[in-house]
Amino acid sequence: MPWSLTVGYVYGTAVRIHVTFLLFLAWIWVAYYQRGGAGAAWEGVAFVALLFLCVLLHEFGHIFAARRYGVKTPEVTLWPFGGIARLERIPEKPSEELVVALAGPAVNVVIAAVLLVFLGGNVGVEHIEAIENPQVSLLAKLAAANIFLVVFNLIPAFPMDGGRVLRALLAMKMSHAQATQMAASIGQGLAIGLGVLGIFGNPMLIIIAVFVFLAASGEAGQVQMKQAAQGLLVEDAMITQFETLGPTASVGDAAEALIRTTQKDFPIVDGAEHLRGVLTRDAMIAALQAQGPGASVLEAMQADVPTVGTRTPLDRALALITQRGAPVVGVLDGAGRLVGLLSPENVGEMMMLRAAQPDARFGPWAKRPAPSRPV
Ligand SMILES: [Zn+2]
Repeated sequence: MPWSLTVGYVYGTAVRIHVTFLLFLAWIWVAYYQRGGAGAAWEGVAFVALLFLCVLLHEFGHIFAARRYGVKTPEVTLWPFGGIARLERIPEKPSEELVVALAGPAVNVVIAAVLLVFLGGNVGVEHIEAIENPQVSLLAKLAAANIFLVVFNLIPAFPMDGGRVLRALLAMKMSHAQATQMAASIGQGLAIGLGVLGIFGNPMLIIIAVFVFLAASGEAGQVQMKQAAQGLLVEDAMITQFETLGPTASVGDAAEALIRTTQKDFPIVDGAEHLRGVLTRDAMIAALQAQGPGASVLEAMQADVPTVGTRTPLDRALALITQRGAPVVGVLDGAGRLVGLLSPENVGEMMMLRAAQPDARFGPWAKRPAPSRPV
C-alpha cells in the first residue's frame, strides 16, 4: 500500500498509518485551534487519536478471530474513515466469516461497556461536578463514539462488517459467489439511499456513499474474477513471448529493451534458463537515477519473485499475485526453466476475453505476446 507509514508490528501484523490520516489529524488540530486555541487543538487531536486506537483494537478483533482459523494478516492500515485489515484470505466457511466479521464490532461493544461502567461510577452522585471535568467528558465522548462505531460498522454493506455478516448469513443458503453478488447489490442500494440522504442532509454521507458503492463493486469483481479463473490452468493464461535479460546485463541494456518492446517487467534468466529475479520498470528507473546505466541488473532486480508450475490452477496463482503484491509471477516447467510470465494485467485481459466468450478455453490469446502499452 503506497503512501502509508509502518509504525510497528503486533504478532506479525504490520500496523500502518496512511498519509491522509496524518493530514486528517492536522486538519482536526487546525479546526479546533481556530475554535479554542492550542489547548482545544491538542484535546481534539487526543480524542481522535484515542478514537483511532479503538478502531485499531476493532481491527485486531478481526485479526485475532481470523488467526483462530489459521488466517494470517500481513498488515492493518489506518485511514481517516477507519481501519482496514488486509487478511490473507477471508474464511469462505460462512460460520467462520460470521465470527471474524462480528469480532471487530464486539471489541467496541466491550470498550463502550467498560467506559460506561467507569463513567457511571465516576459521574455518580458524589462526583456530579465531574461532568465539567474535561477528562471525563473526553471519555464520555469516546464511549459515544464506540457506540457509533458499532452501529456504523453493522450497516449491511461492503466493506463494512455488516456487509460481511450479511454475506455470511446469505452464504448459508446459497453459493459464496451468489451471496457476494446479492450482498453487494444490497450494499449498493443502501449506498444510493445514503447518497440521497446526504444531498438533503449531511454532505459527509455522500462521501461515505461513494466509498461504499465503489467498495461493493470491488468486492463483487474480485469474486467474479476468482470464479472466472476456476478450471483454468496457469498455462492457459500465461505470457509466452517476452524478452529476458542475462545476469551480466546492465541497467542500460534493460532500458534499451524497455524502449524496444512493450514489456515493462524483465525477467533475469541465467544460462540454465533459471529465473534469478525480475527487473521492474520502476526499479530500472530508480537504478538509472542512482547508479547510472552501468549498474548490474542483478543489483537492481527484485529477487524474491513467486513462481508457479504450468499446471498450477490459475486461481491459486491469482491469490499469489494479490497476497504477495508481486509485479509478475514466473511460470516454470518441470525442469525449473522459465517458460512463462503471469501479470495482473494479462490475467485481467484473459478474464475479459473469457467473459465475452465463455467456452473459449484455448483461444488464440492463450499464447500471445505481452499486452502492449506505451513505455
Ligand atoms: Zn470491522
